[in-house]
Amino acid sequence: MSSQLLVGALATEFKMVSKMIDLYCAAHHNTNKACDNCQSLKEYAEMRLDRCPYGDSKPTCNKCPIHCYKNAQKVQMRLVMRYSGPRMLFTHPILVVRHLINERKSVPDKLVAKNSNRHKRLIKSDAKRIL
Ligand SMILES: [Zn+2]
Repeated sequence: MSSQLLVGALATEFKMVSKMIDLYCAAHHNTNKACDNCQSLKEYAEMRLDRCPYGDSKPTCNKCPIHCYKNAQKVQMRLVMRYSGPRMLFTHPILVVRHLINERKSVPDKLVAKNSNRHKRLIKSDAKRIL
């Protein structure tokens, strides 16, 4: 599943998370496509990425000092990562390598104001409305 909202590194990250959820769901919930529960986890992940205050300089989630997930989704996502993390290397090696390179990026010292994908997205759509 690709995102209609996200661009750049955030879109790539969502693609990866989305595939990891698919892998997990296929193995645990006996469906061909993501079940309702997993589908809403995807939408939740997309919303969090969209609102991440680091925007496109976002560190990888496991290094991020902001704990933005609600508890229920955090627990769910941890199960997904634990199952799909090692398996992704075989099914989507390029995405994994990209993620590992990203993981070496340091967490930005300061948050830049109004840097979230959501903020930029809304400004863009505002501009379209005015023009
Ligand atoms: Zn599922």
